Amino acid sequence: MARPLVDTFGRTHDNLRISVTDRCNIRCFYCMPEDGVRFLPKPEILTFEEIARFAEAAIPLGIRKLRITGGEPLVRRDLDRLIAKLAPLPGVEDLALTTNGVLLADQAESLYAAGLRRLNVHLDTLDRERFRSITRRDDLPRVLSGIDAAQRAGFRSIKINAVAVKDLVEPDIVPLVRYGLERGIEIRFIEFMPLDAQGLWQRGRVLFASEIVELLEREFGPLEEIPDADPRAPATEYRFLNGAGRVGFISSVSRPFCLNCNRIRLTSDGKLRYCLFAIEETDVKGLLRSGASGSQIQEVIRANVHAKWRGHEINNTAQFVAPPRPMYSIGG
Ligand code: SAM
Ligand code: SF4
Repeated sequence: MARPLVDTFGRTHDNLRISVTDRCNIRCFYCMPEDGVRFLPKPEILTFEEIARFAEAAIPLGIRKLRITGGEPLVRRDLDRLIAKLAPLPGVEDLALTTNGVLLADQAESLYAAGLRRLNVHLDTLDRERFRSITRRDDLPRVLSGIDAAQRAGFRSIKINAVAVKDLVEPDIVPLVRYGLERGIEIRFIEFMPLDAQGLWQRGRVLFASEIVELLEREFGPLEEIPDADPRAPATEYRFLNGAGRVGFISSVSRPFCLNCNRIRLTSDGKLRYCLFAIEETDVKGLLRSGASGSQIQEVIRANVHAKWRGHEINNTAQFVAPPRPMYSIGG
């Protein structure tokens, strides 16, 4: 294997997040505007063949974990074809998908058959009206049947991502956790981050992990933090002392995990980003389309990682600058 991807702060990168589209079939207010979104024209989007070539170049540098995301990845036609290309690549130890679940009922079986084993389904509430007001679509029943279909198709590792927005989702927390505990699905609360397209984010609108822990303890009894199995994983995990199960938190705002970051990102239009919040990005589509060799692509990946900053300074209001692209166009 070539030299691993270590940046100037000593962080080794083994995790690549691949966005396959900037389009989405719903409109979560903390990510997308209600209307008027201008999506990338199709020729700008990397083909599955181009994505697979990029992954093949990245894997010898030590990339072991791949996650497919978007926009909504399941709106990309024949996504199972990409899964079938990536799952068998030697060196890939983990391949996962993040989805809003709306189209999952139709695709769970084919994704599983193509080699996908891990899913994160994004769901903030079990209340149909609240789902509609958060996502501006009436698709809760489809998401729930998507989760059922995924479990029937054989997915054993399903997690639910819920975005933690203060003065909004508090009534949803206990029902969601209960739903997860009943189904063996871990709920992960993600602190609301300043990546929405409309600039709605304010620190005061973040529901912090500590507040959710308090809320859950009132309902279910004490929670205990699980010492990190993988210190570089972004989630902090807790278990219920009554043995009921666990719950996770991605505390990007209250406990940023930049110093353990192991991730790079490929956007759907072929830009390489060393951070979700990066201001600069490196074009790789041009390289892929000009027939660059694997080692030329590797050099560009190395240079991007070498340029990686220490962290996003989300808690330093004087220094923090929100990236020019919102979440859906970067790939969450
Ligand atoms: N459409 C898919 C979905 O919703 O899961 C994949 C892409 S989405 C951008 C990836 C994740 O980003 C989602 O699971 C959602 O929970 C999270 N997300 C979106 N906007 C966010 C924000 N402003 N702050 C924190 N998390 C956010
Ligand atoms: Fe779509 Fe995911 Fe963004 Fe919601 S969070 S609008 S589902 S891309």
